[in-house]
Amino acid sequence: MNPDLVIIRLGELMLKRKNRHRFLRSVRDRLQAVLKPFPGLQLEEEYGRIYIQLNNEPYTQVANELKKVFGIVSFSPAYRSPLDLQRIQDTARQMMQPLLAESSQVTFKVSANRANKEFPYDSQQLGYLVGGFLLQAFDQLKVDVHQPQYEVRLDIRREYALIFTEVEQGGGGYPKGSNGKAMLMLSGGIDSPVAGWYALRKGLELEAVHFHSYPYTSERAQQKVIDLTKILSVYSGSMNLHMVTFTEIQTRLLKGADEQLLITLMRRAMLRICSKLAVKRKASGIVTGESLGQVASQTLASMDVIGRATDMPLLRPLITMDKQEIIRQAETIGTYETSIQPYEDCCTLFVPKSPSINPDLSRVEKVEQSLEWLDEEIERAVSSAQLIELSDRDESKFEEYF
Ligand code: ATP
Ligand code: MG
Repeated sequence: MNPDLVIIRLGELMLKRKNRHRFLRSVRDRLQAVLKPFPGLQLEEEYGRIYIQLNNEPYTQVANELKKVFGIVSFSPAYRSPLDLQRIQDTARQMMQPLLAESSQVTFKVSANRANKEFPYDSQQLGYLVGGFLLQAFDQLKVDVHQPQYEVRLDIRREYALIFTEVEQGGGGYPKGSNGKAMLMLSGGIDSPVAGWYALRKGLELEAVHFHSYPYTSERAQQKVIDLTKILSVYSGSMNLHMVTFTEIQTRLLKGADEQLLITLMRRAMLRICSKLAVKRKASGIVTGESLGQVASQTLASMDVIGRATDMPLLRPLITMDKQEIIRQAETIGTYETSIQPYEDCCTLFVPKSPSINPDLSRVEKVEQSLEWLDEEIERAVSSAQLIELSDRDESKFEEYF
């Protein structure tokens, strides 16, 4: 039995905030975008809840899309019945049947909410009448008012009753853009796309920045980052990607600098470029995929020296996560398969054998001051960065962007 509609619950915190209307609009826009493949659906809004009339569109597929929308806390498939006790009882029975099919004993309770006071039974009576009916209909049911496996909920509305029991988790978090905008430093690796997903879930609008060292790095490496950005845009509708040519800076640093400081210097240059792009794009933070202790550049001391290259807030959603957790999350959000493709980004090229895990800030700054070409090259990288606008429905290939 396909449900009649889906009840969508939004985050309470979000609804209490000042920008409630903007948040609602943002969720509604995202819903309309992800539900485009189902033309039969109708959206209705009421007191901070959103209802989707399914009109025979397949619930399971719609549910899969809802899990991608941030700002939705949970949702329930619901059945509609005319305002008639027998019809309500019958609908409840039909709803429970498939859920109980393979269980020997299941606990439940019925709770009712009577918004329509003209309905002849009050909530308590309804609970009793529908609960009693279900107990008779299914041998395996047992009442547990404290911790039931199923709570059968009745919502008696003006024109019809809604009956539902399942609650599925939505995307959670906050809707797109509700917490400002940041730049995501997106390599081709496993971590940064996951960091981007967490930032999106927090309601940050993101633009991705990727550094490549073409022709030392391949076009395939860039295509991989384009693909990752497309996957992330499934969760935000669209995403801009800035392709920055890092070849000149990287090769010059390689020639001149102390090998131990190379990674530190590279990272600082990247951060400076990214900060300038952020200002241009009106973003006020930078998200990275760093995770404490994972590699030499991610010790506390290294991150400190690298981070001092910018005065923008650096957001590191993965900072305390284990690699295994990050990988699991990458699999769940769909970036893992793409991330593990073997194309190198600029940082995996010419990696020094023993990068410093404890770089000295004043030494690093002194080296930078001695590189009289650096500021100019940073400016050049910023102004020549290429902007690619991507969306989850984009099918085009690498060649078409360049
Ligand atoms: P990832 O799995 O995200 O590549 P990592 O474990 O390889 O991370 P590092 O290589 O130290 O770690 O990079 C740390 C962070 O710096 C990355 O998560 C990413 O945010 C940023 N970064 C590294 N290389 C690039 C790049 N080529 N372009 C853009 N950002 C980069
Ligand atoms: Mg990497």
